[in-house]
Amino acid sequence: MANDVVIVFDFDKTIIDCDSDNWVVDELGFNECDLRIISDANVFFIETVLKQYGILECFREIKTNPSYVDGEGRLRILPYHDFNSSSHGCHICPPNMCKGVIMERIRATLSAEGKKRFVHAGDGIADFCAGLKLEEGDYLLPRKDFPVWDVICKNPTLIKANIREWSNWNEFETVLLNTVNRFLVADKSSVRADQHIPVDCKFHSSISGHQSALPVPH
Ligand SMILES: [Mg+2]
Ligand SMILES: [Zn+2]
Repeated sequence: MANDVVIVFDFDKTIIDCDSDNWVVDELGFNECDLRIISDANVFFIETVLKQYGILECFREIKTNPSYVDGEGRLRILPYHDFNSSSHGCHICPPNMCKGVIMERIRATLSAEGKKRFVHAGDGIADFCAGLKLEEGDYLLPRKDFPVWDVICKNPTLIKANIREWSNWNEFETVLLNTVNRFLVADKSSVRADQHIPVDCKFHSSISGHQSALPVPH
């Protein structure tokens, strides 16, 4: 079932096709999957962009740096982790946000809902850290020739998840869809091994069962 598939996106340029304003969420109709964002951008930026495209409600949760517009109209950004009070303890990620810690928390929160299958897509070193928290059978989708890719190449045995790299938005779209299809094919194989799942399969289009994005905890 697609609804036990959790897809976690980095935000910057990963789910946006800058050339044509395509959105992988929009294009692929991943509405039965549990879509989340872990990004070192900020709430104001991400929500503004997602609202503009009318897809904010497609995301179950957005983990990013809190932000607000101050009395003088300036955007103020606060760290996701308050590193002045305590460090998140990770030496891979910047002090304000460890994606591995966040991934672990998401996994822990969802564990009560039963077995989940995770896909994480991103381009930065912190996305490698998130990838370290994936398990066998999960998928890490790193952007090739970006920092996440360099670290994977230097530490090829540390990631337990399957790795599927991509270089541009078109490849990302294909790799992500193939990854989700792979899960669905595995589900069907117990029923009929030769059943073909078309690559352009659409999930049910209703998003009514999805929650709005949750506020980022301060
Ligand atoms: Mg990034
Ligand atoms: Zn980290």
